[in-house]
Amino acid sequence: MSGKNVTEVRLANAAGIAEAARILESGGLVAVPTETVYGLAARADSADAVAKIYAAKGRPDFNPLIVHVSGVEQAELYAEFSPVARALAEAHWPGPLTLVLPRRADSGLAPAVTAGLSTVALRAPAHPAMRALLERCDFPLAAPSANRSGFISPTTPAHVLASLDGRIDMVLDGGPTSAGVESTIVAVRADGSVEELRPGPLQIGVRAEGGSIEAPGQLASHYAPGKPVRLNAEGAEAGEFLIGFGSIAGDCTLSASGDLTEAAANLYACLHEAARAPQPRIAVAPVPEEGVGRAINDRLRRAAA
Ligand code: AMP
Ligand code: MG
Repeated sequence: MSGKNVTEVRLANAAGIAEAARILESGGLVAVPTETVYGLAARADSADAVAKIYAAKGRPDFNPLIVHVSGVEQAELYAEFSPVARALAEAHWPGPLTLVLPRRADSGLAPAVTAGLSTVALRAPAHPAMRALLERCDFPLAAPSANRSGFISPTTPAHVLASLDGRIDMVLDGGPTSAGVESTIVAVRADGSVEELRPGPLQIGVRAEGGSIEAPGQLASHYAPGKPVRLNAEGAEAGEFLIGFGSIAGDCTLSASGDLTEAAANLYACLHEAARAPQPRIAVAPVPEEGVGRAINDRLRRAAA
């Protein structure tokens, strides 16, 4: 827990960003906008600050955190960049791509950030407010999604407050996020091979091999709305809140035109609405398994597990 039990919401203007930087520097917790979902940030070089993230989220400590940086130059302080890793970062940063790379022995990161692994997950986000914040901070930011562990990820400040109000110091309000689902995670191995650990907004053309849980946090049940979820529904049955897609109109519709980017941006808001709705169950229309649809279906399968 952080010291306060009032969470202030500040607009992500210059004054709000300065205040967020001040709280983070002194070891506090700030929910920050990124282009994917809101993150719960703390300085990644402080064991005490990182411990507050796990406590506020109720997150299991075997689940490592993504370290957010301003760019490749800062990332090189924490990880070994092979030529393949550098090329991926240069092509896609800032953006919704997380690279899992060998951790440098002298990284200075709190051990809890990587949950004891010899690798570290790094990302340079594209959201302008988050970039401005990272530029102001002379330390890296550990930031998992800003929600209680296992629940639906937040894409608005209101979603953050719904599960973390009073448990964190501040929410930096940068409006609704644009990409809507968490970053694509890829591991780059010493031999230069690349493996996708989590599908996301960015398609880099590698698919996960078998079903091994190499990214420890990729548990079967996650993003849980607290009610049963039925997938591939052609319509609502009695007692179901329907999340629609394309020609299947729902109580909330991911994208009436069948646009997968729009659907990803609306996914968590629809799940939050479904969780709050009076209906005891949730049904979701089929979403094509292509492009960011792979990430949407990955999250929906976990919400249904
Ligand atoms: P979240 O911040 O909630 O989106 O979760 C971050 C996810 O990144 C974790 O659940 C892990 O699956 C993954 N991750 C972070 N660090 C590593 C790592 N060193 N190796 C593999 N996966 C990682
Ligand atoms: Mg999460």
